[in-house]
Amino acid sequence: MEKVIIIRYSELHLKGKNRGYFERVLITNIEKSLKGLKHELKRQSGRYLVENFDGFDVDEIISRLKKVFGIHSFSVALKVDSDMNAIYKAAEEVCLDNGSFKVETHRADKAFPLNSLQISAEIGGRLLNKFKNLSVDVHNPQFVINIDVRENGTTLVFNEFFKGAGGMPVGSSGKGLLLISGGIDSPVAGHMIAKRGMQINCIHFHSYPYTNMQARDKVVELAKVLSDYTCGTKLNIVSVTHIQEEIHKKCNGEYMVTLLRRFMMRIAEIVAKKCGAQCLITGESLGQVASQTVEGITSSNSVVKYLPVLRPLCGFDKEEIIERSRYMGAYDISIQPYEDCCTVFLPKHPVIKPSIESILDEEKKLDVEKLIEDAVATLEVVSL
Ligand code: ATP
Ligand code: MG
Repeated sequence: MEKVIIIRYSELHLKGKNRGYFERVLITNIEKSLKGLKHELKRQSGRYLVENFDGFDVDEIISRLKKVFGIHSFSVALKVDSDMNAIYKAAEEVCLDNGSFKVETHRADKAFPLNSLQISAEIGGRLLNKFKNLSVDVHNPQFVINIDVRENGTTLVFNEFFKGAGGMPVGSSGKGLLLISGGIDSPVAGHMIAKRGMQINCIHFHSYPYTNMQARDKVVELAKVLSDYTCGTKLNIVSVTHIQEEIHKKCNGEYMVTLLRRFMMRIAEIVAKKCGAQCLITGESLGQVASQTVEGITSSNSVVKYLPVLRPLCGFDKEEIIERSRYMGAYDISIQPYEDCCTVFLPKHPVIKPSIESILDEEKKLDVEKLIEDAVATLEVVSL
């Protein structure tokens, strides 16, 4: 009797002709996520089986599989020969010794001598004989014993479904560049877009030495959390120190964040081109702070020339974002108290509804092209 893990995938059936491609991306991602753990991954009519792993790795395998987008659910199962005695032994193994239950059988092997109802009835009856505190409840059982008779002479027996991450396999929907700060929102935005199958690269802007190295390390840690879901990522790090100094020196202080945001978007678009990203992603949420009013978003959006900007959190409340941040495992890192570059030279009263004319007037005081060129020259890429 061998322990295996059944992996079922989601949404792939929607993709018709592309199904083969989606499956290949998914299997590559599963392989990447299980790297370093002994296992064999096999395809079996519309699902995958992880086999030949070490028993003590089961929890680790499960926790890694939970982060692979495109997986609908998975189960730890016992694999036995398709023989009623062997199937019963496995059922006995996964059966609890009290409570209500039912047996549900799926029979892919139509040559098997009993049909699904007969298999369920026979195994259920034998379990009732063995465990005196069990009762059958076909409508509302406390647990279900699943029997899956495959075509290849083997049967899988299991009693649990783990929920997978859902969505589509990362890499099946192109590549995006996430503007990642050290805050709560942007890693969640990256997670949401990765769930739709997009490979994510990251870009972070810092103002060292006004911001410290811990602030940078925090962003590296956040990008690492995200990379567990995206089968790796590249973090682009760019200094905006000189840009902030110039704004501080030459412009109306109330426009610091507004102007800086426009620089970030322009630089992000240049870096996106360098790394082959097809869109920008931000953690903006409508009305959350002064720079995220519709006027603020118009201002930062209007400098992006070619790429769409995805803002998956636009309609989310902070609590909803925090819940997702906790779920993905980023929250405890995000709340560490290191300063972001946006807090450097922060005005007491930032403009809340900046008009494009006044922004352009402020920008005229700066050598925008040169500042961008110098900032891009500070680009450093960390592979995670
Ligand atoms: P977050 O929690 O993601 O920091 P926030 O609520 O603090 O978001 P802002 O600081 O206004 O919001 O930033 C809005 C978005 O701009 C962020 O979600 C992120 O996408 C981008 N951004 C802000 N600061 C940086 C930075 N230093 N580097 C890269 N992107 C940034
Ligand atoms: Mg922030």
